[in-house]
Amino acid sequence: MDIKEKIDGLVEQLINYQKAYYVDGKPLVSDMEYDRLFDELARLEKENPSLVRPDSPTVRVGSDLSNDFPEVEHTIPVLSLDKAYSKDEVLSFIDKCIRKETSSLTFVAEEKIDGISMVLYYEDGILSRAVTRGNGTVGNDVTANIKTIKSIPLSLPEKIDIAVRGEVFLKKKDFEIINSREEDEDKRAANPRNLAAGTVRRQKSEETARIPLDMFIYEGFWSNKDLTPKDHLHILKKLKDLGFKINTHMSFFAHDRKEAENALKQSGLEGKAFAFSEMADYIAFKTGERKSLEWEIDGLVFKINELETRERFGYTEHHPRWAIAYKFESPQAVSKLLGITVQVGRTGRITPVAELSPVPLGGSVIRRATLHNQEYIESLELAIGDTVSIAKRGDVIPAVEDVIEKNEEGNTTYEIPLICPSCGSTLKKDGAHLFCQNRECPEQVKGLLSFFASRNQMDIETLGPKTIELFYQKGVLRRIEDIYSADYHALVGMPGIGEKTVQQIIRSVEESKTRPFKTVLSSLGISELGKKSAEMLISGGFDSINKLRSAKEEDLIKIPGIGERTAKIIVDAFKDGILLSTIDKLSSYGLHMSQDEDEKEDKLEQTLSGTVWCVTGSFVHFNPRSKALEEIEKRGGRTVSSVTGKTTHLLAGSGGGSKRAEAEKLGIEIVDESAFLVMLGIEADRKEVEKDSQLELF
Ligand code: NAD
Repeated sequence: MDIKEKIDGLVEQLINYQKAYYVDGKPLVSDMEYDRLFDELARLEKENPSLVRPDSPTVRVGSDLSNDFPEVEHTIPVLSLDKAYSKDEVLSFIDKCIRKETSSLTFVAEEKIDGISMVLYYEDGILSRAVTRGNGTVGNDVTANIKTIKSIPLSLPEKIDIAVRGEVFLKKKDFEIINSREEDEDKRAANPRNLAAGTVRRQKSEETARIPLDMFIYEGFWSNKDLTPKDHLHILKKLKDLGFKINTHMSFFAHDRKEAENALKQSGLEGKAFAFSEMADYIAFKTGERKSLEWEIDGLVFKINELETRERFGYTEHHPRWAIAYKFESPQAVSKLLGITVQVGRTGRITPVAELSPVPLGGSVIRRATLHNQEYIESLELAIGDTVSIAKRGDVIPAVEDVIEKNEEGNTTYEIPLICPSCGSTLKKDGAHLFCQNRECPEQVKGLLSFFASRNQMDIETLGPKTIELFYQKGVLRRIEDIYSADYHALVGMPGIGEKTVQQIIRSVEESKTRPFKTVLSSLGISELGKKSAEMLISGGFDSINKLRSAKEEDLIKIPGIGERTAKIIVDAFKDGILLSTIDKLSSYGLHMSQDEDEKEDKLEQTLSGTVWCVTGSFVHFNPRSKALEEIEKRGGRTVSSVTGKTTHLLAGSGGGSKRAEAEKLGIEIVDESAFLVMLGIEADRKEVEKDSQLELF
């Protein structure tokens, strides 16, 4: 494999892992493995700077973008943080900053909340949008869900335009209660962050409202720069006065403690004051205190207090140069490797799993840990019987980190047998992984069926992994298409299957036929063809199965975001006879095989295409305001959160302020609510509906 292929492979693999981690809240690998691949990519890119891809995870923040919510541009930089893994690294960062600056510096230390990064945009003092971090430039609009969080003010005491950044989280206690209510173990979240991530992305905000999410705010960006306080302490105080929830577990560091105490007192904030010389002790204290906190934290963030200095230090594409995150060391334990079992995934990928002597770690008993692939086993020179250290980085997936003591039995480094443990066929190596190539392999088939029916794909609620296992054993489900042709009535009487369950299965199977083409496409189980790639293919013109069937690699790689490797995998997949026959059958059962079929169901005429809209004020018929934005986007218009030269229309409700003045200055068309209704072509409907006194129009 040449270097370019290796870099492409790593970029695509890491992007895939990011989606599982940030969007689905279900990481595929441990943080340690993610960080190992990230470091390898960074090393290869450093040695080959001409091969750095613009979408590389090393040059942009990990993307939490999903296609399930509208995308909106951020008007502030929404970056990640540079990381330090030891006290020494933090101290040397502080030292470097102090030496670089001639005036004296102070630092604020905050808890690094292990939650979901969120930006709230307020216009004229009203919460207009809540947007996820996304890729740092564009995020997902999750306003309706975020509005269910009680500690977030929907309006501010001042009519200002401000963006605030913070972390949405779930308290440990609430997480335990909610998770323990979930009977299906597979559906339980691994930690509060994953549950919060899933909750923020629910399609129905009533469901979000049932989970007591909370949010701490830690940064503020005023549109009117004159209103910006001079330093971080005063920003926090101002945010607090505006009604935001600030984490009071904040500390302030200056050259000597007295100076720190005075500054903290003068700001009027709660917190603790320390001298720089006390920083190492402070880190040790907070590390110990972590367990007893009400919320999860995965580190501490040290930020330069003075805004002028921040401006001078600036930013990389990934993080500000004026802050550093100290990441806590992961909890570790020592165990013995009793054996290695080999799992077969839905794509035929083989994953070795360490069977360990049970050991308590970070609140649970660990018996198994992933070993990723043969390369990983070899990098550790791991043999059965070895004493190993286990870590739960990011407190999610346990991983074997190191061999502490070799076994006494003389076992040598483990080698994965080249025979599939499920069907016995010979395994083939592709990149770092081994694959079973038998498409009828039982484990692969069951994995694929479960994936197809899962909540994030075709969402056939009643077909969970256990039911699929049962139906597979009985020979009812052997291929995806069987889901739509099985005689479910004949199953009544099987363990746990009554007439009512069968009715439910039939209903949810039938309902799944309305899923859009992009969902069908990404549910077929073609490797590298997840929702994001499906979206990219569709917007790149490959908006039907027929077009994809005749696609050539050279055409696919022209689509932004589709690399050579992905293009080859997709083209090869559409030559596979089994997949093609599945597609034909699914099509005959009425599943959408082109975007046209989706559009027949719900597409509106794109009357606003080419227009760029900004919204201000409040409305009678669009409450919350995001409903107006949705109507614009549904008709092909774009929406932005501030008025610029590129804006074509300002939708102005009552009480709009500075945006109207800006639009007038730039000569932008200002549209009021009734004119807007006419433009949308729903005025007539509205009158009809009002006549019937059903005011719930939108
Ligand atoms: P990060 O989450 O570790 O740190 C940056 C984030 O910290 C910011 O975006 C912000 O939201 C948050 N934060 C919390 N409290 C804060 C405060 N007081 N002030 C400022 N920011 C605060 O960084 P990242 O770039 O999002 O994620 C990278 C890490 O995530 C990786 O090193 C890896 O460990 C893990 N990861 C794992 C996988 C996986 O598959 N296991 C995938 C992607 C990322």
